Amino acid sequence: MRPLLQKTPSRCTSPLTKGTKLTMNFEKEIKEQGYRRYRGAVDRSVYEYFNCDWSWKAIWYLKKGHYQCCGCKEKCETSDPDGFQLFLDLGE
Ligand SMILES: [Zn+2]
Repeated sequence: MRPLLQKTPSRCTSPLTKGTKLTMNFEKEIKEQGYRRYRGAVDRSVYEYFNCDWSWKAIWYLKKGHYQCCGCKEKCETSDPDGFQLFLDLGE
């Protein structure tokens, strides 16, 4: 069963992934779009906000203040920095 066309209510919907197949290439895709790996700590509250059970798989990417998770199947994303601990050194 692959209900790709089924619309499910979720806060994890991403305009970035609309029309995009769920493929292993998602990580590559967002890298090509300029996302960079976010290696800071992510607070539990972030996953609670997303109601995401996949925090153990989460791999976060960051682009201009926009956080995109490509580890879980929901591909959570947010522009809210709450819960993301930014590095003090942002020189890049
Ligand atoms: Zn998620």
